[in-house]
Formats: sequence, C-alpha cells, structure tokens
Amino acid sequence: MSTFRLEIVTPERKVYEKDVNMVVVKGVAGELGILPNHIPLVTPLKIAPVKAKIGNSNEFIAVHGGFMEVRKDKVVILAEAAEMGADIDVSRAHMAKERAERRLAQKQSDINAQRAELALQRAISRLESVEEK
Ligand code: ATP
Repeated sequence: MSTFRLEIVTPERKVYEKDVNMVVVKGVAGELGILPNHIPLVTPLKIAPVKAKIGNSNEFIAVHGGFMEVRKDKVVILAEAAEMGADIDVSRAHMAKERAERRLAQKQSDINAQRAELALQRAISRLESVEEK
C-alpha cells in the first residue's frame, strides 16, 4: 500500500510526523479523505479529530482548527494546538468541557459565549480523540 508523509505542526512543536496510507479530516466544507497522489489543495479545518490510517490501524490526533495543505510530496496540517490521543489529559478535558458548558448555560455576552463554545468544541474533540480508537 503506498504512503505519504503526514506532518501536524503547531507554533510550539511538531506533534506528528509519519508515513500514512490515508488521512481523514473535517474541513469547513465537510469531511475529506486524502489518499496518496491527491491533487494539491489548501483548506481550513474544523475543531475535530484527524484520523491517520496506517495499515490496519487508525491514529487519532485532536487538531484545533488551523489549515491543511496537500502538497505533491506530503500533507501538512498547521494548527494553533494539537495533541496525539496518548498525550491528552482526559480529566483536564472533562473539566474544560464542564466549565464551558457551565458558561454556556449562563447568560453571557456574545464574545464570552463564543469563547465558551470554542472551548467546548476543543474539549469534545480531545475526548473523542482518546475514545475513538
Ligand atoms: P484548558 O481550559 O484545559 O486549558 P483549553 O482548550 O483552553 O483547555 P488550549 O488553549 O486549547 O486549552 O491549549 C493550551 C495548551 O494546553 C496547548 O498546548 C494544548 O495542547 C494543551 N492542552 C489543553 N488541554 C489539554 C489536554 N486535555 N490534554 C493535553 N494537553 C492539553
């Protein structure tokens, strides 16, 4: 099975760098599955787990927005924050989820409600990345 290099990079570090058979992401326009030799493309991403397929196994990486660039030789995902499933602190994500839900339940200014909504999406995506294996 042919492969391509997948890199997931944040301003702080390279979170992921492996040869994979396929990557599945949630672009703003919907889910996208990228196979080797895909045409070049750039798309913004939603806050959602990225699935990397290697042979018969899947790896999930929580990617918090950002962009995916499909190049001839590799796929690069650039995001403000991203974590491999194994690096996710589950209790921290649960606490962040509860905190965001509490804030959303209160009457808040739009800007605070938006921040809480994004925090909620990050927490849910982290929990899904751990659970989806
Ligand atoms: P929290 O409220 O728990 O800080 P957050 O969604 O506000 O969560 P971010 O601003 O997205 O956190 O991330 C700040 C840094 O902390 C990033 O480097 C991110 O990778 C890391 N991080 C956040 N939550 C977790 C988690 N549950 N497990 C591992 N790393 C995390």
